[in-house]
This record gives sequence, structure tokens and C-alpha cells, in this order.
Amino acid sequence: MRRRLWIPVQFCTRPARLGKCGFRRGSYGSFRYSSTEARQWSTPLARNLAEAIKTTGPIPLASYMRQCLTSPHGGYYTSSQDGHDQFGRKGDFITSPEISQIFGELIGVWIVAEWMAQGQKSRGVELIEVGPGRGTLMDDVLRTMRNFKPLASSIETIYMVEASSSLREAQERLLCGDTSVGEDKEGFKSTSKTLGVPMVWAEDIRFVPKGKLSKPNRMATANIKTHSNFFKDPSKSPFIIAHEFFDALPIHAFQSVPPSQPTLITSTTIPPPRTSTTPQWRELLVTPTPLNSTHTTLSTPRSQRHTGAPPEFQLSLAKASTPHSLLLPETSQRYKALKSRPGATIEICPEGQSYASEFARRIGGDAGKSASGAALILDYGPASTIPVNSLRGIRAHKTVSPFSYPGLVDLSADVDFTALAEAALSASSTVEVHGPIEQGSFLQAMGIRERAEQLLMGVQKGDDEKKERLEGGWRRLVERGVGGMGKVYKAMAIVPLSGGKKRPVGFGGDVEV
Ligand code: SAH
Repeated sequence: MRRRLWIPVQFCTRPARLGKCGFRRGSYGSFRYSSTEARQWSTPLARNLAEAIKTTGPIPLASYMRQCLTSPHGGYYTSSQDGHDQFGRKGDFITSPEISQIFGELIGVWIVAEWMAQGQKSRGVELIEVGPGRGTLMDDVLRTMRNFKPLASSIETIYMVEASSSLREAQERLLCGDTSVGEDKEGFKSTSKTLGVPMVWAEDIRFVPKGKLSKPNRMATANIKTHSNFFKDPSKSPFIIAHEFFDALPIHAFQSVPPSQPTLITSTTIPPPRTSTTPQWRELLVTPTPLNSTHTTLSTPRSQRHTGAPPEFQLSLAKASTPHSLLLPETSQRYKALKSRPGATIEICPEGQSYASEFARRIGGDAGKSASGAALILDYGPASTIPVNSLRGIRAHKTVSPFSYPGLVDLSADVDFTALAEAALSASSTVEVHGPIEQGSFLQAMGIRERAEQLLMGVQKGDDEKKERLEGGWRRLVERGVGGMGKVYKAMAIVPLSGGKKRPVGFGGDVEV
């Protein structure tokens, strides 16, 4: 699925809040940046990457992705790009909350239902959204929650985890209106115009406050392998939303190679590289394409040739093991099972796994009775298999090579839901994971049809365009066929351990009032 791309924009249900500016949109060829060599690069970031690779050697795909998406010097999300808006019809892609307001409303209802199922805590509730884009989803969630007064008044703080300063500003404008913004040690702060509670922005979830490990617990967990040494604050119930966030996190790619290849990178040729008698994982690394390459010499897929210039970077198999190839594919039985099949490739997203672990620790902690809160992850990717060759580039609603125009193209990769579930379960023994299930099933169970019917009844007679947009929008979110998002997108929940007694609503559970 080329997410974000195949969703015809006419299905938007809101009056479009679209991009303001056409920076380089659709015209790729007119900006070239030269390096110390004669070669002209498409963007300053392309030149910097090429120069770094010249100095340090080929780089992991994850490093390339990270630079392209969040480098402060020309990253897709983090550079201002002269006001270029990534979202909407005039941007590069459109996401579910931008397609239909019902999407965010149902996520709001899901949180209300989980909060009720967990005993309706009257204080200490936190909302955390990671990767909030333009803030549309949180806006719809908060508008929905406002109608559930006991929950609305139990919310202490809303945290927004966002790497991009321009998107942080856009979110603040939408969600806080004219309230003044200040910065303190917790970060960039404002007040929600809908609920009147503090909103705090952070660049990484690690900067969102969390409980400190108490002394006895610190001693008890000293020997336990944890990714970060924090303890769940039992007075807090974090409700975490991640929509199309995990697909933007950098991945490493590996391929299994047959035995008898050198196993270690050596800085000298003495002693000679060791050889192996068993298959090994080799990392796919990013290198510049040869000067004067063409689409034909690079075998660029036809669907990606419309950008004109051929890709400036490519993937090549490392000639020897790298620290990542020795470590990451050994972390799960799922990867190990494929190692003996030469040619097998896998993608691993360590940052995604560490986010899932972080969610689990915030919800679970180390004492069963303090577990509270929930995380809802919605994204696209296979339910159980390991993603393969899934990196894609999107620009102006078209698939493009992920190796062209670095920093101007959105990069994303399929989410490995099983890897996230494994990470969550091993990070906390007091959480359980439900799903992944297809987004279509989740939204149907949450009542998308009924809510659409309700909205349709409110449409003025004769406003057929609005009717069509509403109708088309919700159907697109649940449809399973080509262009639909119901099957490829999945929903997965991390909730406090109940031994299977309480299934979350949308995942087979009912609301307990
Ligand atoms: N959830 C939104 C936006 C999805 S796009 C929606 O559905 O419309 C991905 C979002 O994640 C953007 O807001 C982007 O700036 C943010 N993002 C990408 N990588 C990030 C990272 N490493 N840390 C924090 N935010 C990141």
C-alpha cells in the first residue's frame, strides 16, 4: 500500500485546510547543489549525505531515513521548506483524520470506553499523542471528550510528541487558538482551547515526564534488563495515540547471505577477515549512485520515473558484517528463523520497538495494581509477517523513489506490528496486547456507520457535495479493496493486564458502564 498516496483527496469531509505554498511542488529539476566534485545534487541534504558517505563509508538505511525525515538541516518534517505543508490536497499526502472527522471522534470514544473500563479515574489522566501532524486528530478527540465531563475534568495534561517545529506551531494554532505559549524546563507549553488544560510539546517521548524509580524498586530492578530506568508513576493514567507515526521511524534492512563470506569489517587487512560456515545477515547500506546513472542503468521501477532525474542514492549489500547486522537480527526468533534462507530480507525498526516498550512501561510499570492507561496504534503494515522491501517515497500524491530529492520526499515503511507487540510485552509484565486487527473491523466495531448516518442526517437538503464527501470519506476508511484503507491499515492496543478478562472495545470488548 502506498499509504497517503492512494487516497483520492475528493473524499475529504472537512473544508480543506490545505497547504499555503507551492514550494518546489511538482517541479523537481530546477534546483541543483554542487559538492566538491563536479556532481550536482538535487538538495543541500543530498550533497551533505554524499559528502558524509565519502568520509565515513556507506551508511545504514536507518541513518539515511533519519536524515531525510528529521534532520534539522533539510529534513522532510523538520525543515520549514518555505511553509510547505505536507498534508492535504496541495501537499504530499492525506491521512485518515484529514479524510473524515469520524476517525478522530471514534478514537476519542475508544479512550472514553477504556477509561470507563478502568474504573473512571478522577485524576491523573494524561493524553499523549506521538506524531500529531497538523493536530487534526487530537482536535477531533478533544471535541469528543468534551462531551464526557467526568473524563474531561480528570485530564491533567496533554502531551504532543512532535519532531517538527513548524508542525508544533501548526498544532498549537489549531488546538490552543490564541493562548500564549511559553517554554519552561518541560518544553513548549500552551493551553487547550477545548478542555482548558495544559498542553506540552516534546520532541521525543523520553522528554515527557514519567515516574521516578522508588528506592526499593530501584534495587529490585537493578538486575533486570530494561531499556530505560524509569518506573511508572502509579498516580498517572496515560492514554497514548499513535496514528501513522511508526511508519515514519527509521528502519534497518538486512539480507541473509550464504556461508563463507568475510564476517567482520576490519580497519586493516591483517589478520584477514574470518569466514563463516553458516548463513549470515548482511546490512543493506546506502551509497550514492554512480555519476551519469540513468533510470535504465539503475532499473528504477517505471512508476517512479516521472520525477525526471534518476535517484541519487541506492541500496547495496554490505561487503561484511556491521555492528547492526550482528546485533539486531539476533533479537527475535522471528528473524532467526529466516537466517538460514539465503536471499531472505527483513526490515527492523529499533526505534519503533523502543517506542512500544516505552508505551508499555508507562501503562504497566512493575506492580500489577498500578497498571493503567492504554495505547492505541493505527498504522499500515502486515499483521504477522516481517516487512520486506517496504520503504517508499511520496511526493505530491505520487510514488517516487525514496532515494531521490532527499528531504523533499516523504519516506515511510510498513510497520511490523508483531515486533511492536513483542517489544511491549517484554518491557512490562503487566500489560497485554490486543490486535493487530484490520482498521475496517476496528472502525466498524466502534460504530463508524452509525456515526456517519447521524452526521448525514444533519446535512442540509440539497447539499449533495457534502453528503458525497461524508459518505465517501467513512467508506474509504473501512473499505478493503484497492484504494480502501480498511484492510492494509491495522489497529493494535496495549492495555493493562487482565488475563484476557477485559477486551478493549473495538477489539471484541463491550463498554462496561
Ligand atoms: N498522525 C498524523 C500525522 C502523521 S505524519 C496524521 O495522521 O495526520 C507523521 C508525524 O510524525 C508528523 O507529525 C511528523 O512530524 C512526526 N514525526 C516523524 N518522525 C518523528 C520522530 N522521530 N519523532 C517525533 N515525531 C516525528
